[in-house]
Amino acid sequence: MEPMFNPALHRQRHQFVIDFVKRKKPKKVLDLGCCECVLLKQLKFHREIELLVGMDIDGAQVKKKMHGLAPLSTDYLQPSYDQLRIELYQGSVTEKDARLRGFDLVTSIELIEHLTLADVELFSEMVFGYLTPEAVIVSTPNSDFNPFLPGLVGFRHRDHKFEWTRAEFKSWAMKVCLQYGYEVELTGVGQAPPGQQERVGFCSQIGVFHRLGGKERYNMFDEDAEDVFSYTLLYSIIYPSLHDNNILRRVLVCEVVYWAEKLKRRWIAEETGERDDTDDLCQERHVDTEETQTAACGAEMKTLVDQEEEGGELFWTHSQPDSDKWHRRVSVPLAVLWCRCPKVSVLSGSVSHLRLLLMDEPGVKLSQDGSAVLLNHQEQELKVVLVVTMFLHLCVSDLDDDDEEEHRADLEDSGYAEARQCPHSAEPEEDWEANV
Ligand code: SAH
Repeated sequence: MEPMFNPALHRQRHQFVIDFVKRKKPKKVLDLGCCECVLLKQLKFHREIELLVGMDIDGAQVKKKMHGLAPLSTDYLQPSYDQLRIELYQGSVTEKDARLRGFDLVTSIELIEHLTLADVELFSEMVFGYLTPEAVIVSTPNSDFNPFLPGLVGFRHRDHKFEWTRAEFKSWAMKVCLQYGYEVELTGVGQAPPGQQERVGFCSQIGVFHRLGGKERYNMFDEDAEDVFSYTLLYSIIYPSLHDNNILRRVLVCEVVYWAEKLKRRWIAEETGERDDTDDLCQERHVDTEETQTAACGAEMKTLVDQEEEGGELFWTHSQPDSDKWHRRVSVPLAVLWCRCPKVSVLSGSVSHLRLLLMDEPGVKLSQDGSAVLLNHQEQELKVVLVVTMFLHLCVSDLDDDDEEEHRADLEDSGYAEARQCPHSAEPEEDWEANV
């Protein structure tokens, strides 16, 4: 049978949330009834989000796929300044937990119809009265649409306790707004057949709630809040970020070693009159760097020029005798690295800070006054370092592990790519949806 909706209805619901996130850029997002974390896996690619939390009463469902929320190897190899913490809880939306308060956005996608009407009251009180997020997105089946669903008898899913008409949903939404100080916009996804939209509405109805009164209102509720912790933490992960000083240093060391080796290679080639075939990248980046950074590195460069004008061997130093022979070392001034390598300057901020960051790094040998990186003039070492650092620069393009395949699929689903026109691999929420 031809699918009734394209993209599939469950994908349209998630896309609705993703579009909202793109527009409003919430920093803290909570997904109630997250099930197998399908929506969370898409949301994690929206790096304005700093805290992403999922909760569900069914811990086993959550555990099935939760490891797909872990960082990719590229997140470790090329970390950004973005910060992201992900947490998953087992618990019920009818019970309170203080860790879920203070969110910018709470989503409840196809959840409330699984609750008894008495529990819907507890849900309303818990979400709008206790968690008091700035925005809430609630989706639920629209029973006005049910006559259009082929082969449907009764509810769309065997676990549904009710399915509301548009009028019933509106009445609940208005009551919540009055009681807890929100305003709501009623909309939906899953268009009705041509000419029927006005009469029956969307297949999935959606309420987008915004809290009235901004932050003050949250503070007002804050004072009365009890510090209850009724949920069980199932999973917690902090993504690598350049805000973490250890990670910043690791990335900086890789960059410094990479560029210092490239520069050394070039200078050796210049001195010996040989062409350095591997230098294309360096030349290109060097030109780009000089164009974009002339202003920024003026002061730093002046120091270097002063040194050069004083004459002498700027880049070559002679180290202590190694057994029976002297060997030469190449000295790459930090000011040169800072000026010529955009990432080094961005990561460190200034040459003096660069020096501080590299000071106790075992992977980098600094000159005695700390103004230059010292490199051995050894061809073998150079090749190894270049291979490793080139890998770090280029590895993003070649992922082959199963998990990463799945992550890549999530990336496509995340709203970075347009929604694809093929069925989704995850199980749709409604029994009915599985049959069309
Ligand atoms: N939001 C998901 C899954 C919807 S299915 C999606 O968009 O696809 C409904 C989910 O709500 C199920 O995972 C179910 O375990 C969960 N659920 C049901 N009752 C709940 C409760 N009282 N508290 C929290 N989660 C609940």
